[in-house]
Amino acid sequence: MNVAVLSGGVGGARFLRGVLGVVGGSNVSIVGNVADDIEVLGLRVSPDLDSILYTLAGLADEERGWGRAGETWQALETVAQLGGESWFRLGDRDIGLHLVRTELLRAGVPLSEATERIAHAIGLDAQLLPATDDPVRTFIETPAGTFPFQTWFVARGHRDPVDAVHYAGSPEATAAPGVLEALAAADVILIAPSNPYVSIGPILAVAEIRAALERRSVPCVAVSPLIGGRAVKGPADRMLQRLAGGTAPAQVASCYAGLIDALVIDEADAPAELDDGVRAVVTRTLMSDLEAARRLASVALGAAGARA
Ligand code: GDP
Ligand code: CA
Repeated sequence: MNVAVLSGGVGGARFLRGVLGVVGGSNVSIVGNVADDIEVLGLRVSPDLDSILYTLAGLADEERGWGRAGETWQALETVAQLGGESWFRLGDRDIGLHLVRTELLRAGVPLSEATERIAHAIGLDAQLLPATDDPVRTFIETPAGTFPFQTWFVARGHRDPVDAVHYAGSPEATAAPGVLEALAAADVILIAPSNPYVSIGPILAVAEIRAALERRSVPCVAVSPLIGGRAVKGPADRMLQRLAGGTAPAQVASCYAGLIDALVIDEADAPAELDDGVRAVVTRTLMSDLEAARRLASVALGAAGARA
């Protein structure tokens, strides 16, 4: 069975660990968000792809919730001492990966191929595909101005309320090599419990990817990132409230209108009224450990009619 999963960073990666636990990595293609990518100190950082890599390789810092376990910060301390830009936290081990990626990109290797090489070296058995090799970037419109994603999210602590989200570069962007093939070969398409606006939105802003989902002949199931109308972490609930008018399953589903056959929601959000023949599938969705993530993945695959 081939499974394709659209995913953001940390929330998506936790879910992916469950999916891989159920169906095995060699059957999974991941379409990852690259619209949070940023150049820091001359290094090209792909936070969502890296969260997936580190989590699936067992290298992630589970307690901090991002980055690598056993991380140290000496390079960044030196940067700060020398008056360099240090608001975007880069650990020493993490920097090693960014050096390799940056060098490959500078040599003209596309992001998709650079990612494949890095994933192979790390020992990932799933296929990790950036949604696009083109520079799609998220911008956040707020009452205080319009900010690049990481400025709003990290530097300003995602405090500014969001009036609109833009995906610069998306009209010209095409799917990265392998993405449309993976979606066409999938028996099931899953949308991870990632932020609909800033993790999944930029993937769907690539017209070829949206079109592939619209004309899919296989089930597509999304998992809600909200529990009891609240994000487990991050700004998804506040964004849904302001941009979609609420934090019920119907508002989550509205982000994926025409693209999903079922939405997996938490018991705390049931019962739910969804339109357009989208089924609500109720389970516990908190991925407190690997077993919980596996259970959630099984339910999502089951909702797609797949035997897991
Ligand atoms: P980011 O790119 O690192 O911000 O991560 P994602 O966009 O992939 O995931 C962020 C979302 O994951 C947040 O909206 C959280 O509410 C959601 N999330 C994190 N942990 C869980 C969990 O255990 N269960 C569910 N249902 N959602 C979760
Ligand atoms: Ca992200």
